[in-house]
Amino acid sequence: MDDFNINPAEGQPLQPSGPEMPSPALQSSAFAPQPQAFVPQTTPRTSGPLPPFTAQEIRSFRHKAEMPIYTAMVVFNVFVIAFAVVASILAFFDIGPLTGTTGAMFNQLILGIPAEASAHVEVLFILIALPFVLLFAVYLYYAQYRANAIRITEKNFPEIYEVVEDYARRLGLKKVPKIYLTQENGVMNAFATFILRRQYIVLLTDLFEVAYLEHHDLNSIKFIIGHEMTHIRLRHATFSYNMSILFANYIPILSNALSRAREYSCDRVAQHLVGVSGIEPMLALIVGKHLYKKVDIEDYVKHCRETRGFFVFLVNLLSSHPIMPKRIQALLRDHGSGRLFF
Ligand SMILES: [Zn+2]
Repeated sequence: MDDFNINPAEGQPLQPSGPEMPSPALQSSAFAPQPQAFVPQTTPRTSGPLPPFTAQEIRSFRHKAEMPIYTAMVVFNVFVIAFAVVASILAFFDIGPLTGTTGAMFNQLILGIPAEASAHVEVLFILIALPFVLLFAVYLYYAQYRANAIRITEKNFPEIYEVVEDYARRLGLKKVPKIYLTQENGVMNAFATFILRRQYIVLLTDLFEVAYLEHHDLNSIKFIIGHEMTHIRLRHATFSYNMSILFANYIPILSNALSRAREYSCDRVAQHLVGVSGIEPMLALIVGKHLYKKVDIEDYVKHCRETRGFFVFLVNLLSSHPIMPKRIQALLRDHGSGRLFF
């Protein structure tokens, strides 16, 4: 799960949704702000049996920094595990970095336990227990949604189910992911997440309603679903992916940069999957489901270009999702990678 933060049980949300959550749309019918801008289709491409994306297409949609950062984090993760195992074994012979004064410092600064405690026992316990704790948490999280949500099926919101089936085919997913619909006190969000060998998507009602309220904006929901299903296609929302960067995720600037790159990747795939710009659902996340159609996009884009400076840079740097001005500017183009940092 990627998300807003590192908590795997939080899934890959569309946007950071609240202080308790420690882990992204394209149809602007009248908007063509620059010559290279994405040109929305009057007829979204979902109507016909379009062929599945090729692996090469998917690669070209990925943010160029995603795989390099991911690889670096996997290497770091392996290094941490190898270091922990070797240092723990050495500690049984009373040598190595987990003994003596360095061991005492490690206990206090990293593990937060008394200096005289046996760090190697704690380290081995964490290494073995953490995957099980993670699994327990994700199954509990999944049960919570199953127990309090409506599943989108052929009978419940069939027009949405049809879209999910079509996108699963075009993205080359082995299974059609289950999608759960629930409300969370007005929060507008959506995320893809996982249990051990399966992935699912949660859509929060307040966002989902844009398809059924006054705007009947099915395209924005398609974009959101396309984005979340891409998290599954790109394996962001899998147990193995999250295990592969489990410890590296504790480096906040790196984990947030990877998370932002994942969001750009999923936005780009969703654009091509749905055939809309994806700007409108973003505007809905900013101003809500009733007002977003009233936003003058050209004026907002001007505002986006003016939204910069050191503190804006800092907000983006520490965020799991690209700040909206950067995200929307990336959506204005139908190719290339969005700006991760500046
Ligand atoms: Zn996302």
